[in-house]
Amino acid sequence: MAMSTMYPKYSTKMENDTVIMEQRLLKKVSHLVLNTTKCTGCGICSEVCPKEAIVLGLVGAVRRGAVKDEAAISVDPAKCSYCGVCTILCPFDALEVRVDGEPSLPIKEQEGFPEYDFTAEIDENKCVRCTTCSEACPRDAIVRDIPVYEGEVADGAKRQTALDAETTLVVDKEKCNVCGICASLCPALKIKRIPFTAEKVGSAGEVVWDKSLCDACQVCATACPEHAIAVERVVKEGSKLAGKVTIDKETCVTCSWCEKVCPEEAVTIKKFFDGEIVFNADKCPGGCSTCVDICPCNAIYLPSPVPALQLKKDSIEPTIAVNADLCILCGACVNACPSEDVITIRRSGIHVKGPETDLFKSIAAKLCIPRSSKIREDTFGQVELKPLE
Ligand code: SF4
Repeated sequence: MAMSTMYPKYSTKMENDTVIMEQRLLKKVSHLVLNTTKCTGCGICSEVCPKEAIVLGLVGAVRRGAVKDEAAISVDPAKCSYCGVCTILCPFDALEVRVDGEPSLPIKEQEGFPEYDFTAEIDENKCVRCTTCSEACPRDAIVRDIPVYEGEVADGAKRQTALDAETTLVVDKEKCNVCGICASLCPALKIKRIPFTAEKVGSAGEVVWDKSLCDACQVCATACPEHAIAVERVVKEGSKLAGKVTIDKETCVTCSWCEKVCPEEAVTIKKFFDGEIVFNADKCPGGCSTCVDICPCNAIYLPSPVPALQLKKDSIEPTIAVNADLCILCGACVNACPSEDVITIRRSGIHVKGPETDLFKSIAAKLCIPRSSKIREDTFGQVELKPLE
């Protein structure tokens, strides 16, 4: 057989959490690798692919785990040019192009192409190393490089060491009768007792204090029946927990939960897209909540029921709502919603840095076409969105 009829060869295979599309030439092998655990079904890859090689699948069912052994998107390995546009613009870092086994972005290397202008910063001086942002982040993108204290794990660092402080404990020896109550309450105190003897009956000795174990809680001072103990702790001005809290740029998708919940206003986030999302709750049949389950930013919620006494006559309670401040306009909810026109997104701009080539400009224009929930499933298992204009 002539060589030209043998190559290129195309294949697709699924291995655990990855789908690998392959184009094999005589001297070059290109792969597009999809990480299905990272893919949210947002469909940005399908919108931006210059070769229209990517189609959306059953996003809602796949993301909710109802359909196994299938990804939210599928890529035609023969249509794909392995350019890497989808890799660059996937906000979830779910795609990778490899050429001859090595990560590669041909379009960036050969023609130049911009990337998201990513801004997600924590002002170290304002940050007090609390746990709020890391608990709120829906993407586990907050990195807390802070000692783990005993409040979190029993064998953690002693809480007394958390702040730069000076503690003093003074025992009034005139008043102390070495009763032992203080030591029975606190591991920082020990009684060094002069042994009881029949020769000289009485209670004598001293209280020994281990500064490193004392957190100046004052239990000993308040429990001492003789008011013989005085404890004082002075925390050095500006002292805060050691370590640093940062945002993992590979994982963060700029939803801004951290910015919104930070009690110190220490976080600055710039979203990838400008625009708006609109929920037409009156068109939602209710009882589905697919969008709530699959939203990668936890921006969609089922509104709390209004107490019966507060309901206005003939009013209808909304079944679904979105907090637009937390939405990144990725589009996963639009793709997953089984009803028509419930959700609409309108992107009005993209924040990028790098050369804004003609190809990028045409891709940006496509991303900015407003769209609404699906209306057609002409090909079984493939979703087509409804462009609004
Ligand atoms: S690598 Fe390029 S051609 Fe292939 S699917 Fe991604 S965007 Fe489309």
